Amino acid sequence: MFSIDTHYINGRQVAASGNEWLTLDDPATGQPTTRLRLGTGDELNQAVAAAKAVLPMARYSQLEERATWLERLAAAVDRHLEEMIDVTVAEYGGPITGVRQRIGYASAAIRSNIDTLRRFAFTERRGQAEVQYLGLGVAGLITPWNSSIGFICSKLATALAAGCPVVVKPSELSARQNQLIAQVIDEAQLPAGLFNMVQGTGETVGKALVAHPDIAKISFTGSTGTGRYIQREGAATLKRVTLELGGKSPNILLPDADFEAALPLALAIAFNNSGQACLAGTRLLVPRERLAEAEHGLVKALAQYPVGNPSDPAVYIGPMVSAVQYRRVQGYIARGIDSGARLVAGGLGNPEGLEAGYFVRPTIFSNVSNDMVIARDEIFGPVLSVLPYDSVEEAVAIANDTDYGLHAYVSGGEPQAREVANRLLAGRVCINGLSHEPQAPFGGFGQSGIGREFGVEGLRAYMEPRVLL
Ligand code: NAD
Repeated sequence: MFSIDTHYINGRQVAASGNEWLTLDDPATGQPTTRLRLGTGDELNQAVAAAKAVLPMARYSQLEERATWLERLAAAVDRHLEEMIDVTVAEYGGPITGVRQRIGYASAAIRSNIDTLRRFAFTERRGQAEVQYLGLGVAGLITPWNSSIGFICSKLATALAAGCPVVVKPSELSARQNQLIAQVIDEAQLPAGLFNMVQGTGETVGKALVAHPDIAKISFTGSTGTGRYIQREGAATLKRVTLELGGKSPNILLPDADFEAALPLALAIAFNNSGQACLAGTRLLVPRERLAEAEHGLVKALAQYPVGNPSDPAVYIGPMVSAVQYRRVQGYIARGIDSGARLVAGGLGNPEGLEAGYFVRPTIFSNVSNDMVIARDEIFGPVLSVLPYDSVEEAVAIANDTDYGLHAYVSGGEPQAREVANRLLAGRVCINGLSHEPQAPFGGFGQSGIGREFGVEGLRAYMEPRVLL
């Protein structure tokens, strides 16, 4: 059994003092593996005080100094890639091939921030005025469990590029991943106080961070419900917020789409990160006259996305992160069946031979209408809804009829694919593929969030302008 009982405060690991423990299971077996001593409000206060003490140094640091911090951070992350991959697979249950890619993004995100930092105009003239961009203060970073190391690295790198010290409140379900990344960051030898991390629950440590008067900004990635809480409670101290929340992303297959390529791609997009991905394309819009062909092709393509042991490189779909998440996904599959949608693959229960862990059967519902709960709610598991449409006009309307707006996908010939993409209300629209660009802003319309991360927009979100006249 692993035991995690330290926090990272003011440049070192300090013994945790709380009396409460959380036990985490191996998602692939359901067996307990880790005990986390939960952080307290006092420990959070110590972390904020450490960050506040170095705020003037960070805010007025030279740009080259910040670039050096980030270079050292990226080098430390690169030295430990394999260890981070192993811990993520073991603790989170993410299939190794995808985990390798996402951990790779962590180091790319740090390096991308070095580029942005070097190109950003921290001082500019506007008429008579000199406009300066200053780090806005101590930033609180709150991250989810579905790519813990990646989110911590990308948020930390942007905050440091802006000259903001940070206090991280990572997901309590990622205790070992968090512990490891804190050790790796320690190796980067940042000035003490710039990076602090307190492991604990949202209820205790998260809420204390959101309420703390010395925290100027919260950068949050997680569920829409928690995002609403942060905006509401953060208002008491007028916190700046960046909220990266949920999604229910549409994937439109145009009438001329090449199904040989588009259907396997649709499954890759829907079941990415075992379906526990904010950008999963979980509403597949198909021309009604090709619905039977789509159902047949999807069932056939499922074989390319096997569910199984996450350490097997051929596996695409691993277990759900926890028993709670497993039950939540099962609940949605049951509601899908009850709603009258046509179950074309998967269903309730575990896949054969995988009864022990939190594995769910990759599930496809067809003939779904956009008002069904499985088409409206973010399920966060490998559950795809196929919705028929009668005209491209209607497909665009259905795609945009959602509370969210994080991501969208279109497959089909040009120029129509791009024309349709131009009408979708989402922070990112991928045409005929699934790609990522760390220099481009990432974030959502509607209830997918507020603000953007990455690129110039991400950096500016950690700064305030000061005008000299
Ligand atoms: P969550 O909202 O339950 O938890 C996220 C983090 O917030 C955790 O660290 C948690 O401890 C903390 N937290 C919970 N309640 C809090 C409170 N009241 N105050 C402060 N902190 C609190 O989300 P989750 O279940 O960990 O993650 C899944 C969600 O994250 C999904 O909805 C998914 O779409 C979203 N997500 C979004 C993106 C994006 O970039 N838009 C990326 C990944 C995940």
